[in-house]
Amino acid sequence: MAFKNRRAAKAIAVLPCEWCGWTAGRRHAAHIIDEIKSAGEGRWNALSLCPNCATVFDEVIRPKLYRALKEFGATNLPPSWSKDNKISQAIDEALEES
Ligand SMILES: [Zn+2]
Repeated sequence: MAFKNRRAAKAIAVLPCEWCGWTAGRRHAAHIIDEIKSAGEGRWNALSLCPNCATVFDEVIRPKLYRALKEFGATNLPPSWSKDNKISQAIDEALEES
């Protein structure tokens, strides 16, 4: 999820993509845990991601980490990690409308 604090977002997005190292294109600041709406002290909850990596992170990595951690026995995991946010949200909304 994108940052609302533009100053923090700008400071994070100047970094290379923290997933692939991309520096030539646009990057943006993303929260690791969407439920926490800040970068956190030391910016532990922030990533600079290029558009491709942001999509992979949201739609593949977080749901897989959620499943793996849950299988491992971890509890109190961020609900936002439980599913592919964008696609699942669109499906949920479509189902609610029908
Ligand atoms: Zn990247």
